[in-house]
Amino acid sequence: MENQILGLHHITAIADQAKKNVDFYTKVLGLRLLKKTVNFDDPGTYHLYYGDEKGSAGTILTFFPYEGARRGSAGTGMATNIAYSVPEGSFDFWIDRFEKYNVLYNKPSEKFGEKYLTFLDPDGLKLELVIPKSHDARTAWETEEVKAEVATKGFHGVTLTLRDIRQTAGVLTELLGYKLLEQSGHRYRYLNENVAAAAVIDLVQLPNEARGIGGAGTNHHIAFRVKDEDVLLHFQKKISGSGLNITNKIDRNYFYSLYFREPGGVLFEIATDNPGFGIDEPWDQLGQRLLLPPQYEPRRTDIEAVLPKLG
Ligand code: ZN
Repeated sequence: MENQILGLHHITAIADQAKKNVDFYTKVLGLRLLKKTVNFDDPGTYHLYYGDEKGSAGTILTFFPYEGARRGSAGTGMATNIAYSVPEGSFDFWIDRFEKYNVLYNKPSEKFGEKYLTFLDPDGLKLELVIPKSHDARTAWETEEVKAEVATKGFHGVTLTLRDIRQTAGVLTELLGYKLLEQSGHRYRYLNENVAAAAVIDLVQLPNEARGIGGAGTNHHIAFRVKDEDVLLHFQKKISGSGLNITNKIDRNYFYSLYFREPGGVLFEIATDNPGFGIDEPWDQLGQRLLLPPQYEPRRTDIEAVLPKLG
């Protein structure tokens, strides 16, 4: 496990209304609301985290919901599709559910020998459910309506859309330890062999596609997982040694992070397993209370007054 990337850590996207976002991801999709905090750079905005019971790396999807945000448009230089792993035989349940909640979806299809079902969140963010070829042993978070036999188990992978995949592929293979697994048309599948899940990155090469524009319904960045801060430091040296600009270590309260923009335009982050989501509230109460980092605690009353109600 030494000095290795362990698949995906989290994915962060932008939303419009916070309440709509919470309703969709916790009720319709059945994820756990792990943490209700604020954007550390803009405390008048929520930062919402969803995932499995403990917020395991590879299950964490986070949003910055900006009330009234303009809608972005997916395009090159962006993560354009988030894939969740689901159990064999669960698509009928999900299609019924998407019908019931007026979720836009496409009929199931197949790529690289895996069945998938594409759907959109309320802001038009593209997601898909995938039945992975190899059994996903992760334990799903269950809700009243979404039981373990159909529930999402965390990420299968993510798709990045690029004008030209070459330099991004170089970052994945030479710096982050991914291997090219398969290619089909414009899609190149890369795999992280250190982990059994959240291991896939697809690069889609579309030379004539417009550049993505950030806004509601688009992804902001993707984060790769490392064990701890020593490994984080190793990657900081390795990435800066390759000539790319990378930040210093940033304390994100629940993990430590580095950020760099890969040459294809996608913002990459590397994030640690430690200290995790149990640092500031009991495991059985995650996501219930608004949590503020210490520097904003004195301003709690003002911040709470500005944030929209989620209930
Ligand atoms: Zn992040």
